[in-house]
Amino acid sequence: MAPLDPHSFTDSTHTLTTHIALSLYFDFPSATIHGAALFTLSSPHSGPLCLDTRSLSIHRVLSPSTLSPLPYSLSPFCDPIKGTHLSLSLPNDAALSSFLITFSTSPSSSALQWLSPPQTFNKKHPFVYTQCQSIHARSVFPCQDTPAARIRYSALLNVPRELSAVMSARHVDRRLPVSGEGYSNLLPNGFNSLWCSETRVVEEFDMNQPIPPYLFAFAVGELGFREVGPRTRVYSEAADGVLEAAAKEFAGTEDMIRQGEKLFGDYEWERFDLLVLPPSFPYGGMENPRMVFLTPTVIKGDASGAQVVAHELAHSWTGNLITNKNNEHFWLNEGFTTYAERRIVEAVQGEDRAVLSIGIGWRGLNDEIKRFQDNLEFTKLKTNQEGVDPDTFYSQVPYEKGFQFLWCIERQIGRPAFDEFLKKYIATFKFKSIDTETFLDFLKANAPGIEKEIDLVLWTEGTGIPPDAYEPVSNLYTKIVSLANEFKLGRMPREDEVADWQGQEWELYLENLPKVVEASQVVLFLS
Ligand SMILES: [Zn+2]
Repeated sequence: MAPLDPHSFTDSTHTLTTHIALSLYFDFPSATIHGAALFTLSSPHSGPLCLDTRSLSIHRVLSPSTLSPLPYSLSPFCDPIKGTHLSLSLPNDAALSSFLITFSTSPSSSALQWLSPPQTFNKKHPFVYTQCQSIHARSVFPCQDTPAARIRYSALLNVPRELSAVMSARHVDRRLPVSGEGYSNLLPNGFNSLWCSETRVVEEFDMNQPIPPYLFAFAVGELGFREVGPRTRVYSEAADGVLEAAAKEFAGTEDMIRQGEKLFGDYEWERFDLLVLPPSFPYGGMENPRMVFLTPTVIKGDASGAQVVAHELAHSWTGNLITNKNNEHFWLNEGFTTYAERRIVEAVQGEDRAVLSIGIGWRGLNDEIKRFQDNLEFTKLKTNQEGVDPDTFYSQVPYEKGFQFLWCIERQIGRPAFDEFLKKYIATFKFKSIDTETFLDFLKANAPGIEKEIDLVLWTEGTGIPPDAYEPVSNLYTKIVSLANEFKLGRMPREDEVADWQGQEWELYLENLPKVVEASQVVLFLS
């Protein structure tokens, strides 16, 4: 057993899955999905094969050609981080390049958020959506749940006909179910016979670009959409006002995509659609390819909502095209994306906005380093996550320290050279999953002598903030920070000084106030 990823049972000596064809029956009353999955391997395999699962019921493992059962076992205990290990035994005498598994999810699936009608905007229909990052795809279907194992997929989602579905995939068709399609005749518990019920519809999808499993995504509900650009629709529940507000908020998306293409190369995912979720979505945004998920709280009518979209769009190049090989190299996803987001923001909103965002990030990074002063491992870019839940490891460090590292390289070699470097990096590693060493080797080969100017080991393996990190400078940034410093001396900003402030200006101001404020100052501040 040679683990490929500290967060997966995938064995590096085993063959990897390259395609999964899913047939999923959504049973809203029991908050359960019943599924059949056909796995295709990169080459024929015999002997043991390890898959990740979490809170899944496995019904059958079959050879797809003969439908004869294949032996399998589930680990008797559930690892609190990795879940339950599903070990298949593929025949030794006739290696298989595909196999079939039927399974059901659990209502407690860590990737699935089931909403009852009262939890939605329109309060009429239920809603379900996924959040598979970091390691939750395994609670929707069995898989080699590591970003090192990129997969293509197709999916038939069988849903109540009053609902519709979106996925991180190309929408092929919405049509009547077909009896027995996609091995749906093998679904358990009688759901095979319900597949073609007249109350159901099939939404068919295809994703022919290889993605890490954490980018698998769907949402099912009463959805509507508005066109906001030649390759962008904004989707949300078809509720009064929500779609209109979202369409207005994200009207500038095409401009951002074009700026991104100028900076980082072609947009490879064909469409860049946005889904505004019900308010329970626990993140600002999730960069699911072709279909970014957003919380409705980003619809604020100021520049900050567009910055969330800029971040998720930037992932189209960094994170989705080039992906960290495992979560120990998460900064390759988020540091690059934070850098790319700010370049897009600079291009569409101007340098002052980008510097404000860098400044808010700089304060956040300094606060995080203080928070982790007793756990310095958390302040490294390249981390050791053996035995660590990636969700508990989450912090601003990979985002902001990663940004600072790349910004430092940009200052050292100059922006034109760094822009060329970024384009070449993306073109070289697109649709691949890489680690920190691969990036550093590429950097040293393409910026000769860089290791003599910047301490690359200190930046990637050291703790805290290296001395060549940099607090940004701009008139607006400096003015806000000095106004916050004056608050400590008892001076409040005048009304005319804050008249045109938006959310970000206030955020930066508040971030720079002392953490402990005297009661008398609070009264002053609120008055
Ligand atoms: Zn991100």
